[in-house]
Amino acid sequence: MSDKPSPRGARFPASLGSRGPSAGPQVTLLRPQRPLQEAARDAARLAAPSGLGLDSAPVRQRMVQRLRADGVRCEPLLQAMGLVPRHEFVDSALAAQAYEDTSLPIGLSQTISKPSVVARMIEWLYLGEGARARGHLGRVLEIGTGCGYQAAVLAQLSTSVMSVERLKALHELAARHLHRLQVPRCRLVYGDGMRGHPPNAPYDSIIAAAGGDDLPAVWLEQLAVGGRLVAPARSADGRGQVLVIVDRGPAGFTRRLGEAVQFVPLKSGTH
Ligand code: SAH
Repeated sequence: MSDKPSPRGARFPASLGSRGPSAGPQVTLLRPQRPLQEAARDAARLAAPSGLGLDSAPVRQRMVQRLRADGVRCEPLLQAMGLVPRHEFVDSALAAQAYEDTSLPIGLSQTISKPSVVARMIEWLYLGEGARARGHLGRVLEIGTGCGYQAAVLAQLSTSVMSVERLKALHELAARHLHRLQVPRCRLVYGDGMRGHPPNAPYDSIIAAAGGDDLPAVWLEQLAVGGRLVAPARSADGRGQVLVIVDRGPAGFTRRLGEAVQFVPLKSGTH
């Protein structure tokens, strides 16, 4: 983990800078059609009536300061969350709430996760041995794309992100968001994430935004040696849903439990 301060005037989408090239070529899978400036202008116009004003960067920085005050220490992650315009991933009627620490509806009874939960989960990934040695998350698998916000944050911190969503309408919504913002290194898959995504396995980092009774075994099979998985699952000790952190070492898996959380259910099949 680097403790470099955020460069002033950093723009979204950002490049991995010194973290990227050493880990292989960066392939932009979502190709831009519109310049970012145009998207930013539209966003400012949409956001203005909801009270975000013409520049959302200061309010986003306040969110980052709150995360830091709450103990988030991972600077690359804080920098990424300071860059990704969360208000562009929610309905414009909700844009004014986009930088509060709250989950918000994104349609079809699903929600965009709270910033503090996104931060905590990605921080867990970053604290894994492989990510610490590498300085970034490597090849990432995300289960539950939703509106694409977390995928956009992950894309700033990894060499590639495969993100799987079982609801077609949300998969398409996320594709529109990521395309408009020209998010690099991110590929969206419409499918049942309970099966992971075998074609690109193994993954250095696996993160799930929906929780079931336990972790599907295929997720562990698709985790690279040296990799880490973070996902919500029901705890056996009656605490309800908790974060489960699994490391895969040369000798096998180690598993620990993290914070109590409340994620939408992990469901099988597509819709
Ligand atoms: N990371 C998202 C949060 C989305 S909420 C964001 O930033 O917005 C969790 C998502 O997981 C929902 O969209 C839900 O449809 C999806 N989901 C639940 N079960 C799934 C499965 N088996 N495969 C893929 N996605 C799933």
